[in-house]
Amino acid sequence: SSRTETLEFQAETRQLLQLMVHSIYSHKDVFLRELVSNASDALDKLRLESLVDKDLDVDTSDLHVEISTDPEARTLTVRDNGIGMSREDVVSLIGTIARSGTAELLRKLKESKEAASQELIGQFGVGFYSTFMVADKVNLVTRRAGQAEGTRWESTGEGTYVVETVDDAPQGTTVTVHLKPADSDDNLHDYTDHAKIREIVKKYSDFIAWPIRLVTADAEPATLNSMKALWARPRDEVAEEEYRDFYRHVSHDWADPLETIHMRGEGVFEYEALLFIPSHAPFDLYMADGRRGVQLYVKRVFVMDDCAALMPSYLRFVKGVVDAHDLSLNISREILQQDRQIQVVRRRLVRKVLATVKEMRTAHAERYRSFWSEFGRVVKEGLLEDPDNTAAILDIVSVESTHDAAEPTTLHDYVARMKEGQGEIYYATGESRATLENSPHMEAFRAKGYEVLLLTDPVDEVWVERVGEFDGKPLRSIAKGQVDLDTEQEREEAGTERERQAKEYADLLTFLGGALADTVKEVRLSSRLTTSPACIVGDAHDITPTLEKMYRAMGQ
Ligand code: ADP
Ligand code: MG
Repeated sequence: SSRTETLEFQAETRQLLQLMVHSIYSHKDVFLRELVSNASDALDKLRLESLVDKDLDVDTSDLHVEISTDPEARTLTVRDNGIGMSREDVVSLIGTIARSGTAELLRKLKESKEAASQELIGQFGVGFYSTFMVADKVNLVTRRAGQAEGTRWESTGEGTYVVETVDDAPQGTTVTVHLKPADSDDNLHDYTDHAKIREIVKKYSDFIAWPIRLVTADAEPATLNSMKALWARPRDEVAEEEYRDFYRHVSHDWADPLETIHMRGEGVFEYEALLFIPSHAPFDLYMADGRRGVQLYVKRVFVMDDCAALMPSYLRFVKGVVDAHDLSLNISREILQQDRQIQVVRRRLVRKVLATVKEMRTAHAERYRSFWSEFGRVVKEGLLEDPDNTAAILDIVSVESTHDAAEPTTLHDYVARMKEGQGEIYYATGESRATLENSPHMEAFRAKGYEVLLLTDPVDEVWVERVGEFDGKPLRSIAKGQVDLDTEQEREEAGTERERQAKEYADLLTFLGGALADTVKEVRLSSRLTTSPACIVGDAHDITPTLEKMYRAMGQ
């Protein structure tokens, strides 16, 4: 062997490994799921590459994953004959964590309690490193398809790893896990036990499209998984549990999905889609380079992860698989964005997801509430991004309101409660429910018994302006322009009184107008106050104070 190097893990990787090595994470079985998942990805990549690059000299006749154990040596080995890695790949892919949000995750992990940290680790999906929950040493031998030299990698997970070039590596990747002593941890199963391995593979990896074989001493290797592409099977033949397991597989989540959407498109563009709405927002939901989108397959061939072209950004939390039948396998991400088939499929998926949430709103209120608290802020971005679906999005929006402090309201419910003669939907925007409730602007509305929507999310101000109306009723800010809440008769009665007041206070108004000339446009008598002496009102087309603050913060 040549060029043996001992390298240090990058700082963040080292910290994450420390967490793994000393992990109290109870779902340790997932390490095997992660290794099998990597092996399956590697087989997917090799198949795709061999289909796209006809000159690639590789044998793809028996692509598979093989698991073997050695109870004496206490090792478990997962081997694939997939794409493999070059030496540079090994250093950059295994030695570092390129994922955004790693630092953030580590910070949260340090602060969190045990239960919360399990959740975080589950959401992050620690991949290859999860092997260090069960191993005191991991060894990897790999050779990139088409290359002659292989690479050996080894580490105990304690700060450094060794890489060296080897010349007898089979194509693909072999990972050997040296298991920790059985009595070192209560959550550690015996991973050399074949029954245990069968159970884990069946549970987490049954639908992997490649055979996963277990090498036994006395017989032919047994294939452990059924290899059925779940999305291609008729809905009524798939058990709930299979859907749930599949969700965990594509999302690397530990929890169950909130909703499962299984659909099929026939006609000009054929496709199958199996989508999930998770029950929790992922930690990287608001990170610019967070993972988003669904997996794209073309007639059962995996093409790419995180296919953003299939889901608009405001539905970026949706997970799953889309199998589009008439696409080219070597389509690039850039071309995908413009592909007509993809656009049609995407439109249908969006409508279906929105309809599913609407259905949840009407039929499963509790589930909808939890959906909205996890993903509502993101969904509202759609009111700015996706004008074609404004109505469908408004259908599932809920916001706080003066009607019920404990329960946000939908716009439908607001409209249903509107008073006789109330022609507009009133809303207030600001930093918090408390400031809005105590705002002088609220007084006249409270006195009249009119319900006011309380919009406290910065994006709210932008969409209410953009959307303008709901169900034919204008959305009206209570802090802007002249508000006239009186009926005809009240107006007549008040008219004479107001004329009298106008005369009485004419001098005061002139004086105040002069004294405040630099700060306000005009000082006038108000009909909107009941107890406060004065309030500041914006012009109908002014930007709101919160937006003003936002722009100022951005330096504009
Ligand atoms: P992820 O699979 O989410 O990318 P992992 O930590 O599981 O994260 O793996 C990191 C990377 O290492 C993979 O993206 C892949 O490029 C590479 N890798 C891991 N296992 C294999 C394998 N068996 N064959 C080829 N590449 C692999
Ligand atoms: Mg992985």
